[in-house]
Amino acid sequence: VGSEMCIRDRCKQFGFDADWRQAQLALIGLTEDPRELALELHQQVLVDDVRRQIVDVFFAHLTTHEQAGRLIASFDPGHLKEKQIGYLETFGVGCREESYFESRARVGVAHARVGVPLGLYLASFGVIQELLLGAITDRVVDTEKRRQMVQMVLRLTTLDIALATEVYHRARIEDLGRSVKHLELEQEILREQIEQDALTSVSSRTSLLRELEGAIAKAGRTGQPLCVVMADLDHFKDVNDNHGHLVGDQVLKEVAARIKAALRAFDLVGRYGGEEFVLLLEDTSPHTAQQIAERIRLRISSEPIHTGECNLDITISQGLAVYREGEDSSMLLSRADKAMYRAKQAGRNCVSE
Ligand code: GH3
Ligand code: MG
Ligand code: MG
Repeated sequence: VGSEMCIRDRCKQFGFDADWRQAQLALIGLTEDPRELALELHQQVLVDDVRRQIVDVFFAHLTTHEQAGRLIASFDPGHLKEKQIGYLETFGVGCREESYFESRARVGVAHARVGVPLGLYLASFGVIQELLLGAITDRVVDTEKRRQMVQMVLRLTTLDIALATEVYHRARIEDLGRSVKHLELEQEILREQIEQDALTSVSSRTSLLRELEGAIAKAGRTGQPLCVVMADLDHFKDVNDNHGHLVGDQVLKEVAARIKAALRAFDLVGRYGGEEFVLLLEDTSPHTAQQIAERIRLRISSEPIHTGECNLDITISQGLAVYREGEDSSMLLSRADKAMYRAKQAGRNCVSE
């Protein structure tokens, strides 16, 4: 719908279409436009100084209420009074027109936006209603005319109260909708943070371990081969010691990117620890897993990694373990880890089983 400022048509926004307006008016008893009577009301009762008087008494009364008084004082009271006089000037004039609903809806939204409690808002309609009825009693002598005017004022304020309540309700629902969207976006960002390793953008340890559980369950069910590779950078401490941690971080990022580039779309790589990555190769024979690990080894070792200041020759040692029936994730990872240590012992920059 765009920003609030763009919404001109509150009736459309809130679904106050012709049918809805018709039904609302019929319920209240305004099936016909009380044009003549409204005119008489304005000519005989709501004349200039009476409107002013009503508004003065109205505001004087509201300011005796602590919360209402505070709200009024926080705005420009002179401006509020002018608005209220304008409300009385148009009171009941063309009450069956869409523009009448539109102006009321706008006033309702304005009150809702500044946080006027609904109870307070509705009570103030009651106060205005009483003042209007008092003005009629004071000025209309003819009993039948007075009865008709009183009835019309009751119906018109009922319409105002109904519209105010609807607008509050719908504006609140829209606000809640916006909050929910905002929370969903935040949740999405948080989920990404939990699922992804912040430095290298590969899967986080949390996500990796969860996926491993799933892969083990699937392998147990289908009998498809599942391979896990533990990969650990060689002499990585030296990189940090000689070039600093920031260079070390850049190396980790580049290594992760090279591993990813060497994998198939359905393989998964996660950061298991500081400079340790785990590959999850589902539905993959040990032979193929060996090939993949070898491809990774070459991608990392065959070309130095460029960081801001230097070119570094980096190598990685990998241990491969094939899932055995009945094993759990920690047993499988532990065997991959042991295999990785065998690769270290064998001189590093190689793959062991
Ligand atoms: P080996 O070949 O036996 O694995 O030797 P190594 O130096 O890689 O092994 P060691 O476990 O002694 O050192 C790992 C180093 O990885 C130590 C730690 O400072 C570094 N490291 C772990 N996480 C990070 C990280 O996020 N950033 C950086 N820059 N360094 C890290
Ligand atoms: Mg390590
Ligand atoms: Mg290491």
